[in-house]
Amino acid sequence: MSLDVRLVKTDGIILRRSDCGEADRILVVFTQNRGKIRDLAKGARKLGSKKVGHLEPFASSRLMLAEKTSDFWMISQAETTNPRGDMRTSLVRIAYASLVSEIADRITTEDGPNPNLYALLEETMDNIESDPNPEMALLVFVVRALKASGFDPQLKNCVKCGAEIHPDDHFFSPAGGGVACKSCGVHDQYARAIKMETLKYLRHIQRTPFSRLKNITVPLQLAVSIEGHLFAFLENLFEGHLRSVSFLKDVRGY
Ligand SMILES: [Zn+2]
Repeated sequence: MSLDVRLVKTDGIILRRSDCGEADRILVVFTQNRGKIRDLAKGARKLGSKKVGHLEPFASSRLMLAEKTSDFWMISQAETTNPRGDMRTSLVRIAYASLVSEIADRITTEDGPNPNLYALLEETMDNIESDPNPEMALLVFVVRALKASGFDPQLKNCVKCGAEIHPDDHFFSPAGGGVACKSCGVHDQYARAIKMETLKYLRHIQRTPFSRLKNITVPLQLAVSIEGHLFAFLENLFEGHLRSVSFLKDVRGY
């Protein structure tokens, strides 16, 4: 066995930590240069572990990774570059950040980098920490993350018959992959009615550059409606519930 261990330097955001055995911890990190990785942090829960304070959820860190040997990478060094400490002063912001982390975790596989998604995740975490309206940051994140991962919903043409979708009330079919026209939507038992206004905003978020979306605000009722369609779309894609949604609804109160 060679003693040369290839090291990879990369920035990363901690998505998830779980305990393993007596003292170990598994970390799921979305990194800039290697995409999603899992690290088995041996002894990470023992007092005195130097790395552990640099590996907090939602924080960005500069990492040194030892090349993957089996299922895991090894984080050999970690230094926090953006702790996002203000996030932890608000349960609502923690709930938004938890949901964003869960979506980022589930929408990715461990098959290499996705620089667009990484940049989006950095910006979204910053916005959730500082923006007076983290709801908008969540909606933009979901739409953009779907696009960056190749799963963006079809919103211009009916997913069943291909007809152009004109501004009107229609159906949204998570299983079909987007909007269904009135004639097709009524035959899809899982399709959800979508109002013209909701569809308009969804399209706007999908096509507008990220920087220009920062300042738009969406009325609460509309935001909740958009959110509902997007969560249904994600849960269909992931074939399971998003655990963090109920936490968010609990702390937010709607
Ligand atoms: Zn149709």
